[in-house]
Amino acid sequence: MEPVIVVGGGLSGLSAAHSVLEHGGKVILLDKKPALGGNSVKASSGINGAGTDSQTRLNINDTPKKFYDDTTKSAGQLARPNLITALTSNSAPAIDWLTKNFGVDLSLVSILGGHFTPRTHRGTGGAPGWAITSALMKKLALEEEKPEQRAKILKNAKVVKLLQDGDKVTGVEYEDGQGQKVKLEGPVVIATGGFGADFSPTGLIATHRPDLIQLPTVNGDHATGDGHVLITSLSSQSGVLIDMDQVQVHPTGFVDPAQPDAKTKFLAAEALRGVGGLLLKKDGSRFVNEMEKRDVVTAKMWEVIQSGQGPVRLVLGMQAATELKSHCDFYLSKGLMKKFANLQEVAEHMQVSLKDLQGTFISHESFASGQEKDPFGKTQFHNSDIKVEETFLVALITPVVHYTMGGVLVDEQAHVLDASGKPIPGMYASGEVIGGVHGKNRLGGSSLLEAVVFGRIAGENAAKSE
Ligand SMILES: Cc1cc2nc3c(=O)[nH]c(=O)nc-3n(C[C@H](O)[C@H](O)[C@H](O)COP(=O)(O)OP(=O)(O)OC[C@H]3O[C@@H](n4cnc5c(N)ncnc54)[C@H](O)[C@@H]3O)c2cc1C
Repeated sequence: MEPVIVVGGGLSGLSAAHSVLEHGGKVILLDKKPALGGNSVKASSGINGAGTDSQTRLNINDTPKKFYDDTTKSAGQLARPNLITALTSNSAPAIDWLTKNFGVDLSLVSILGGHFTPRTHRGTGGAPGWAITSALMKKLALEEEKPEQRAKILKNAKVVKLLQDGDKVTGVEYEDGQGQKVKLEGPVVIATGGFGADFSPTGLIATHRPDLIQLPTVNGDHATGDGHVLITSLSSQSGVLIDMDQVQVHPTGFVDPAQPDAKTKFLAAEALRGVGGLLLKKDGSRFVNEMEKRDVVTAKMWEVIQSGQGPVRLVLGMQAATELKSHCDFYLSKGLMKKFANLQEVAEHMQVSLKDLQGTFISHESFASGQEKDPFGKTQFHNSDIKVEETFLVALITPVVHYTMGGVLVDEQAHVLDASGKPIPGMYASGEVIGGVHGKNRLGGSSLLEAVVFGRIAGENAAKSE
């Protein structure tokens, strides 16, 4: 039996690799970096699931249909029903798989922008991306040690070419740490992630979104769209790319006061707004529904910045900060957030009057309690009862390249399709490298889900392929 070759050791490649093993196959997983994890280990808000055990325990009434509707609305005119159905209907089983097979804690559920109800899962420990991805890494490393030798992990192994026999993809060629070229035979799952760090002058961002080339990014330097290039460079029956101009610019990248111009920035997790963080202009007033979808919040931020009303700050009161304590402790330790003993200190720091700043919080609380209607349309409020004397956390933020919605054309079975819509034999793809799952805007928490759902499907189908 030929092994399945999985290219990329982020959450999607790892999910595909475990799925191959569960379906009786052998697997070789390659990653070009010295360590596995990709962008998956950076994920900080959580993973979506609708109709999960955690939601039931917390009395959250949700269904795959409601999740489908939210995703379709967010995807707009680029919504693809087959891919959205695959994502949402497999979401609760994906959460179940992670908790039961890998012991990942996903017991907390919060709400992110564009979701009708809380459905973004994380655990009580550190960042969810690390918690989930490292659990899958550890289990795969254990599989590799077993005498059956059904799993093998190759690091510092950059795949540079897909091998073909006629139309069929039959394996890969990779460069090892010494620059030697090595060939491997077997069906291939491409899980190389997105192109959110491909800022080269002839790269994918320059080609598809030249207007974003000057922006900072929160992606790791591996995210250069290698899989996109490999799949579209097949010598016959090549794959195609869709929605490549759909790049998600996240509204809240931290501006590190120690290096404000750094190209790579840390992300201020969307969960910070989910627990009650407010976005404030230079004068201390709000300008947007903080719970809006990312594209809407980013557009409003541009208006503020371009009209000279920036910088924009993210401000959290004590209750909100406590709900995301481990996140906030990390951001404070990196100097990305600053702690203030009370609102007076925040006002002095921002050079605004305490009365005006306090007015922002008093109005927000009256919107939360239903006495007045929020002029920006906010309807979901958390931890909005803020006292002047409590501790506050404050950060400077800016829009950042975050996620690439466009990518390789696949069907709901993770087959890579050619321009006529026909599956390319021996060729599967999953995770951020695939295009079209989120249409014009990805909802927070849906990419880790995409990685797991399509990784599991790709692994199963590759294991069963001839
Ligand atoms: C800061 C940050 C926070 C995020 N937070 C969230 C969140 O809370 N929830 C959510 O749902 N999503 C979140 N996302 C998005 C999400 O993390 C990613 O979209 C997702 O993890 C992508 O998984 P992946 O496995 O497809 O790719 P990745 O995790 O990026 O892995 C790709 C792997 O492929 C390897 N690779 C690339 N090219 C080659 C090659 N030629 N040969 C061999 N190996 C190769 C890379 O080295 C890498 O290890 C966040 C993203 C970032 C950057």
